[in-house]
Amino acid sequence: MNLIDMLSGQDVPVETVCSRKGCRTAATTALLWNNPKIHTPERRKTWLACDEHAQWLEDYLRSRDLWRETRPLSEAASADDGAVAGNVRDAL
Ligand SMILES: [Zn+2]
Repeated sequence: MNLIDMLSGQDVPVETVCSRKGCRTAATTALLWNNPKIHTPERRKTWLACDEHAQWLEDYLRSRDLWRETRPLSEAASADDGAVAGNVRDAL
C-alpha cells in the first residue's frame, strides 16, 4: 500500500482492514498502544479500525491502560509528528 497514492485521491486498492474480530471493513483509523508488561515504553503496537469500530477499540485499550494514541490512518505513517496526535485528541 502506498499512503501517498491514497492521499492524492487515486483509486488504489485498500489492503488494510479493521482489526475488530469479524470486521472486513477498510480501516480509516490507527490506534497506537503499548503493553508495559511486555513492551518497552517506546514500543508502539498498531491496531487498525474502521469508522464504526474506532471508538470501540479505543475504549477497549483505554480500559486496560494500553491506549496511547488514535490517529487517522492516512497520517499514521508520520509517527513523529506530535501536532497530528494533538489534533486527533482534540477532535475526540
Ligand atoms: Zn470495523
